Amino acid sequence: MSSYQVIAKRFRPQKFSEVFEQEAIVQTIKNAIRLEKVGHAYLFCGTRGTGKTTLARLFAKAMNCENLTPENEPCNTCPSCNEITSGHSLDVIEIDGASNRGIDDIRNLNETVGYAASGGRYKIYIIDEVHMLTKEAFNALLKTLEEPPSHVIFFFATTEPHKVLPTILSRCQRFDLRRITPEKINSKLSLVVKQLEVVVDPSALNLIASHAEGSLRDAESLLDQLLCYEEPPITLEHAVKNLGIVSTDLFFKLDDAVKHRDFGAAFSLSETIYQTGCHLQHFLESLTNHFRTIALTQMGEKPPHTEYAASAQAYTKHHTLEILDYLIDALEKAQRTPFKRIHLEVALLHIIRGSQKIPLESLVERLENLKNQSQAPVLKGLPPVAAIPESIKAKPPTPKPIEEKAPPPPVQEAAPVEEVPFFPNPPPAAAPDTPPAPATPKTPQANIQQKIKHEQVMRFASVELNGSLKQ
Ligand SMILES: [Zn+2]
Repeated sequence: MSSYQVIAKRFRPQKFSEVFEQEAIVQTIKNAIRLEKVGHAYLFCGTRGTGKTTLARLFAKAMNCENLTPENEPCNTCPSCNEITSGHSLDVIEIDGASNRGIDDIRNLNETVGYAASGGRYKIYIIDEVHMLTKEAFNALLKTLEEPPSHVIFFFATTEPHKVLPTILSRCQRFDLRRITPEKINSKLSLVVKQLEVVVDPSALNLIASHAEGSLRDAESLLDQLLCYEEPPITLEHAVKNLGIVSTDLFFKLDDAVKHRDFGAAFSLSETIYQTGCHLQHFLESLTNHFRTIALTQMGEKPPHTEYAASAQAYTKHHTLEILDYLIDALEKAQRTPFKRIHLEVALLHIIRGSQKIPLESLVERLENLKNQSQAPVLKGLPPVAAIPESIKAKPPTPKPIEEKAPPPPVQEAAPVEEVPFFPNPPPAAAPDTPPAPATPKTPQANIQQKIKHEQVMRFASVELNGSLKQ
């Protein structure tokens, strides 16, 4: 049988100093060991591949090491260290919480807790994916966790700490592991390829590091896969081809297409993406990330590649945010649509076409400005108000002679009841000789001004929209 060890296992940190990115946690653990203030339960939280189990094992190793270094590092040479490294230690018991999640599993554990450690000083239980335990199992664990024997330490690891019962959480010291930055992943991968004595292009390592989303183990697995597929030297093209990763070059080509309004590029890019076998969902995620980087560059952040400086020029801030909004929607729809390729092409066309649109906010602002101008006392290019002919100017309303109403005749029993008017002065409509007056007393001059304003605003809007369509 092959003795090949995967990179993640072969290059797993054996000392605290080899752990990436978790300096604060490492320092806390070292201090606890140095000051002999080690608790009896620790919870390591964080996304996959950030080093939760690695840290738990290192902690366990340091607790049982016979010759701790002055820096509180495990010696990695004593029997206890060797047993833990090879996974054969009787004092460090690793339990997978996902497959041993029932009450009986925890009862079995509780029964062994009382026995003394076989060789080392401490008996250490590492329960991975602890959030998978059932409620009953948690409750069974609770009693042991409350009053554990002095030689027992529990290390729990979880990707979902919110699923762990609060009663358990309150009995643990909690460490939240950070995601590992692409730069740190890149430096670890560079160390690995150096030790393996294989030549891998730095841009290929960069691509793997950015694709791993903060998980060092994911990055190491991807590198493993790449080294199995291709003969060194490994290039960026190899990485793109074999790992189904989208090359950032594709995104920069899209930025170029936006600059030159090249709609055909949407179809040629979609063809390339399909030829490489990239998953639509993954492509859209990477594209969203690309526009996120552009947005950050436009806000003054330092871009990860120099090409981003030019790409940021191809979009306005508003356009970038609009694309990000659109891509978030497109990501959701991509899961449901059966027409994946068309969905992709429409998304690319939308991005290229978007550069020609006048933002709605800008249009509204310009209309507002125009409205304010038109409210000025003298209308530009139009005769002043005073020049409006006298004939159409409003005349002050002349008081109407009020007809002397005859007193109503005395009410007689047989006579029909005369209708008493509601208004003391009847409205002019009642009089057959006078024309009906408008409901609101608006002068013709005001009417003309309003009509001019309205027409001017409408003309401007139509010119703007027409221009936008022609482009
Ligand atoms: Zn040791």
